[in-house]
Amino acid sequence: MPRLIRERVPTPERSVEERVRDFGEVNLGYTWELALKEAERCLQCPKEYAPCIKGCPVNIDIPGFIRALRENKDDPDKAVREALKIIWASNSLPAITGRVCPQEEQCEGVCVVGKVGDPINIGKLERFVADYAREHGIEDELLREEIKGIKKNGKRVAVIGAGPAGLTCAAELAKMGYEVTIFEALHEPGGVLIYGIPEFRLPKEIVKKELAKLKELGVKIETNVLVGKTITFEELRKEYDAIFIGTGAGTPRIFPWPGVNLNGIYSANEFLTRVNLMKAYKFPEYDTPVKVGKRVAVIGGGNTAMDAARSALRLGAEVWILYRRTRKEMTAREEEIKHAEEEGVKFMFLVSPKRFIGDENGNLKAIELEKMKLGEPDESGRRRPIPTGETFIMEFDTVIIAIGQTPNKTFLQTVPELKVDKKGRIIVDENLMTSIPGVFAGGDAIRGEATVILAMGDGRKAAKAIHEYLTKKNN
Ligand SMILES: Cc1cc2nc3c(=O)[nH]c(=O)nc-3n(C[C@H](O)[C@H](O)[C@H](O)COP(=O)(O)OP(=O)(O)OC[C@H]3O[C@@H](n4cnc5c(N)ncnc54)[C@H](O)[C@@H]3O)c2cc1C
Ligand code: SF4
Repeated sequence: MPRLIRERVPTPERSVEERVRDFGEVNLGYTWELALKEAERCLQCPKEYAPCIKGCPVNIDIPGFIRALRENKDDPDKAVREALKIIWASNSLPAITGRVCPQEEQCEGVCVVGKVGDPINIGKLERFVADYAREHGIEDELLREEIKGIKKNGKRVAVIGAGPAGLTCAAELAKMGYEVTIFEALHEPGGVLIYGIPEFRLPKEIVKKELAKLKELGVKIETNVLVGKTITFEELRKEYDAIFIGTGAGTPRIFPWPGVNLNGIYSANEFLTRVNLMKAYKFPEYDTPVKVGKRVAVIGGGNTAMDAARSALRLGAEVWILYRRTRKEMTAREEEIKHAEEEGVKFMFLVSPKRFIGDENGNLKAIELEKMKLGEPDESGRRRPIPTGETFIMEFDTVIIAIGQTPNKTFLQTVPELKVDKKGRIIVDENLMTSIPGVFAGGDAIRGEATVILAMGDGRKAAKAIHEYLTKKNN
């Protein structure tokens, strides 16, 4: 019987005192020695049964990559090369997913060791492999091998949106020999990875290096192109053999509370775009300003709310999360909630805004909050918040609204023949093909707000489906 080690090897983290003063990464990741020690804890469940593989949305051979580390103890470069090959077979952006996947709900949530102790730290091991490979030139070496094997097939595919769905779809198609062009509305590719998730969780340098791989595979990225305006969908259809839509769900959901247009109230999307994409935290070195007052309220309990709260804290404010359910129902990653708590974000549960109160100059000065109680579970399986009628007032000078995002209607309206559901999500069949033949879609554009790995999984699946579609069409 393999020896069971209940406690996981911790990953070093920067101290709270140091990290709240800057936007540098909080978790420092494993060293080779620590990674190996953690890898030794895995019980190596047989591949056919390993629950972690089933728990991973793209079914990475987790015991396989962990074994590659263990079997090459004396040669870390070889260990990482073999492990990365296994990971790349299912996931092209492991430095990103290792950092942002909600592992506790996926692979780690079902790891057998988790039943009696801490599950294997799969996310941090995946991140270690990707980081070590990048830093030691192993990734470049494997990429060159991959590029050598590409045979161009002369067919062209357009990808709309450079988020994880579009990027993954493009990478997979390029490997199959397609000429791929991604059209991206913003001035930088990456989608939420670049404008939403802050540096302290996902350094932009890492995202950029992951994206540099795409260029080497021959993918063209045209930024500052808003499909539907800069170029029409019809023009793309004429020029390309197939299209993949990965436009995400970037429109903030804003409830029409009285006073919601007062100065000092941001959508999380605007706040995080200013801070992350435009680097407003480095103002005036960068041109874009961001204003936060002394007391900031963030409305919501997801990853976006945690990111907004921790960013505001780093800009010097006292920050409150105001959430209408309890901690148990929060959808943010457990690690982020823990980090936010450690850093001094204050949490108030079972409250919901009733109205925002301004001063004579139109600036926010307080929120009237209503106390909530929990009722029966709703369609998300979480207990529904019910208003109690009891209200109170709390003073705040800034509010960040993080109650969700929906797909962008402006683009969808330019393509009326594209079928969407009531929530604006593009309707697709089991091959991710939309109502228009040859046009595929994936990621948040079909799911609404979901996760990075699901978007990547869709990108991969759509690439295969596009390949099959074009192969059949030409035979
Ligand atoms: C703040 C925040 C934190 C998050 N944290 C996590 C996390 O920790 N873990 C996790 O798994 N998930 C997290 N998520 C969710 C995750 O980021 C998304 O599920 C994922 O990015 C969806 O990928 P996508 O490629 O479908 O869309 P997106 O990442 O939204 O990318 C869509 C891209 O399409 C572009 N685009 C849109 N319309 C057009 C057009 N008409 N023409 C050209 N380009 C267009 C957009 O500019 C954008 O770059 C977070 C989301 C947010 C907002
Ligand atoms: S379930 Fe846990 S112990 Fe089993 S193979 Fe996966 S990581 Fe290892």
